[in-house]
Amino acid sequence: MEKIIALAKRRGFVYPSSAIYGGLANSYDYGPLGAELLKNLRDVWWQYFVHRREDIVGLDTQILQRPEVWVASGHVSAFVDPVVEDKVTHKRYRADHLIEDWFEKNKQEKINAGNLSLEQMAELIKKHNIKSPDGNEVTDPKRFNLLFETSIGVVEGSKSIVYLRGETAQGIFINFKNVLDSTRVKLPFGIAQIGKAFRNEVTTGQFVFRTLEFEQMEIEYFFNPDNDWRQYYDELKDYYYKFLTKIIQLSEKKLRWRLHSDEERSHYSKMTEDLEFQFSFGFKELLGYAYRTDYDLSAHLKHSNVDLSYTDPETNKKFIPHVIEPSIGLNRLFLAVLENAYLQDSENDRVVLRLPFVIAPYKLAVFPLLANKPDLLAKARQIYQVVSQKYHCYWDDRGNIGKRYRYQDEIGTPYCVTVDFQSLQDNTVTVRDRDSMKQIRLSADKIISFIETENENSSK
Ligand code: ATP
Repeated sequence: MEKIIALAKRRGFVYPSSAIYGGLANSYDYGPLGAELLKNLRDVWWQYFVHRREDIVGLDTQILQRPEVWVASGHVSAFVDPVVEDKVTHKRYRADHLIEDWFEKNKQEKINAGNLSLEQMAELIKKHNIKSPDGNEVTDPKRFNLLFETSIGVVEGSKSIVYLRGETAQGIFINFKNVLDSTRVKLPFGIAQIGKAFRNEVTTGQFVFRTLEFEQMEIEYFFNPDNDWRQYYDELKDYYYKFLTKIIQLSEKKLRWRLHSDEERSHYSKMTEDLEFQFSFGFKELLGYAYRTDYDLSAHLKHSNVDLSYTDPETNKKFIPHVIEPSIGLNRLFLAVLENAYLQDSENDRVVLRLPFVIAPYKLAVFPLLANKPDLLAKARQIYQVVSQKYHCYWDDRGNIGKRYRYQDEIGTPYCVTVDFQSLQDNTVTVRDRDSMKQIRLSADKIISFIETENENSSK
């Protein structure tokens, strides 16, 4: 993890936020490379789920919504974490996490403390004398709401409290009728959204795994509950798994499904699974996959008195659709991608990010072999100008060629094109493959078609 954090900072993927003012806990900014990687992840996700599927449409809703949305969804009353406070430093910690870590360290036992009651947690903390990470006593656990509050209105006294959305999903549910009325969708169909969500998290030190502000990519897949829910559940689950393993190329060895137990599962859910990724700090949730029944639509119907039912065009039967929800954090996926791609290649004395072509920030780099030869420089520039019309392309004429290769390896650029003296004679260049480090020689006119052929099976 330290190595990834260092690389992310050194090469402009991720910076600690507000660093010149001392930093802000659980907040990160994304540098030029990180912004590209995030954008590529968003784009391939949207393309795979929204463009490639006839039955899923996109949506983009507000971060600020009426507070009633969050009352109806249950977030105002129940979006809470159990939190304890260090009695000396007054730092706050998730009680369930402290207990889980204690059991893992002291009993080599993996337990799930998330579904214990406050009293049960307090009992365990007392019984085992569980301390804060700084070794101090902690208070009894209390419930702490994760929603951020802000207010609308400039005149003091007339302000009204609103919440920054804690998830993007509710924006989908409150627009269900709008989408039905304004498009030609028919059940079963899904609505997808990518956007920021905010949670007042207390856990610190997990890099971009858990932050106050993050992006979610969520789908609500609606269907008629008279039909067998399992078919929709399994189909979308397999489709999603393919996205993560084939398009994003996460290693299957690092992924596992974990079914929620009856106690852990939300009361309205019939089945929930987490897809966990093996981060450097253990297997942790990457994707939440839940059959949420008609809970959300029914809750909004009840609170808004607006009819959110669906009428089957064939049978004229009216009902509230049920829903399956895959929910993933873009930034958590970003971290999984970095961890999955990171390779310390000691044999070749290099660090390489083996990012799939479709999400790599730069697809190729173009160099003149020597920077002080005007002919080489001009030829390389000309090639760069052509290929950069098609692919995001890096220009580098600093330092020696070996250093340039190492730099591109570290930022995950799949190909390096070098223009040398032979290029001036016969218009050929060398193309170096990041992973195998093999070089081939081809005509400069063939660079784009070569890259296209090599990557025709990827999603772009
Ligand atoms: P966790 O148990 O890790 O807090 P959760 O079960 O609360 O996660 P969900 O509410 O299911 O998470 O959110 C869906 C997805 O959003 C998660 O699988 C995760 O990828 C992402 N996510 C949730 N909270 C955060 C956060 N604070 N920072 C980054 N990503 C997050």
